[in-house]
Amino acid sequence: MDMTIPSELLEIKRTARRFVDTELVPLEAEIERTGSVPREVRKPLMRKYAQLGLRGITMPEAYGGAGLGYLAFCLLGEAEARALDAFQFIFRGGDPLLASAGSEMLKQKYLVPLIRGDMEHCVALTEPNAGSDAGNLQTKATRVSEGFLLNGAKHFISNAEYADFAVLFAVTDPKAGSGRGITAFVVDMKSPGLQLGQRQRMMGRQGWHQSEIFLQDCFVPNDHVIGEVDQGFELAKRFLASTRIVTVGANCIGVAEQCLELSLAYAQQRQTFGKPIIKHQAVQFMLADMATELHTARLLVYDAAVTVDRGESPMPKASMVKLYTSEMVGRAADRAVQIHGGMGYCRDLPIERIYRDARVWRIVDGASEIQRQMIGGWLDRHGCSQFIVS
Ligand SMILES: Cc1cc2nc3c(=O)[nH]c(=O)nc-3n(C[C@H](O)[C@H](O)[C@H](O)COP(=O)(O)OP(=O)(O)OC[C@H]3O[C@@H](n4cnc5c(N)ncnc54)[C@H](O)[C@@H]3O)c2cc1C
Repeated sequence: MDMTIPSELLEIKRTARRFVDTELVPLEAEIERTGSVPREVRKPLMRKYAQLGLRGITMPEAYGGAGLGYLAFCLLGEAEARALDAFQFIFRGGDPLLASAGSEMLKQKYLVPLIRGDMEHCVALTEPNAGSDAGNLQTKATRVSEGFLLNGAKHFISNAEYADFAVLFAVTDPKAGSGRGITAFVVDMKSPGLQLGQRQRMMGRQGWHQSEIFLQDCFVPNDHVIGEVDQGFELAKRFLASTRIVTVGANCIGVAEQCLELSLAYAQQRQTFGKPIIKHQAVQFMLADMATELHTARLLVYDAAVTVDRGESPMPKASMVKLYTSEMVGRAADRAVQIHGGMGYCRDLPIERIYRDARVWRIVDGASEIQRQMIGGWLDRHGCSQFIVS
């Protein structure tokens, strides 16, 4: 097994890291203070990132993407994780559903400007009564002449406040049963009948805002359906599993890298009882566990990414990535606080923010319990031969 990462992929990570350090880090103190990225810098930052060829890195070249694979996407994700989550809008420069199943018209109208940095979007699946149980959506799309009328409510939708359009899921066949009869739509956020609700205040991730969306007789034309009517949930399951390897897995690796670097540097310079704290075995053990788990997570993520790049199904590896990396980063952040002592709890250092921000990963995009359920169900259906080397 050759685990060497091609130098051109490492260069992608370095380019993204330079962008984060020079363009984004200088804005962080202001965002932490105000809780928002100033509106006037959003488009210039997105366009700058697009010009580096980093927005929409896995999106097809014909639409302005870089057409690269998931291993490249992962390295990029690790570098992006060094920035505040408030900057997620810069990094979400593509949409796997639109790219894979959108019509030519939808790609030209929405995907191209999204990749170019001229538009922002959001993905609206979750509802007040359908989170983990996402197959049980209540938002209805009723057929009318030349399109659909949407009625219902979404919540916790990241970036809804700034989005130009939403990739939104609604039930088109209420009789089909859980997880069926759901359609994916592109909905213009300025559509009559769509109303943005409250910004929902969160524990962490300052500046990456979540909001409610209310739909009352909101008209969406037929040509704004992504893929086939009633097949939206299948589409989402097929593509979102792969995306999760990056949006969660690689992101958690980037954050855990930062925890390890900051903690090692602190442990080597902070003195107690006449020596640097790294000379105390208890502190060494925490660092050892951080490094070991980070490396384990990286192998899991890269293996899942290469599986996608080979065109194979990402399941159950994508669920393993989501489960392990989200729990790993929580332990890494917790150890980082512990190693920094009182300074780890103090707002003068970034550690306390990283600790708060990391908590969300075990919940979003399919909580740990749901991932365990998916892995267990997969083993029940397929057996364990994929995980036994004989
Ligand atoms: C910061 C943030 C950003 C988000 N961004 C978006 C977004 O952009 N778009 C979007 O659509 N959604 C978004 N979400 C929603 C997110 O994906 C959901 O919160 C998540 O899927 C969990 O759903 P829930 O909150 O309804 O929890 P619930 O489904 O109510 O679950 C509550 C608890 O019960 C457990 N549980 C549920 N069912 C089972 C079961 N069968 N077996 C065992 N345990 C179970 C869960 O694991 C969890 O621990 C976001 C959420 C947050 C917090």
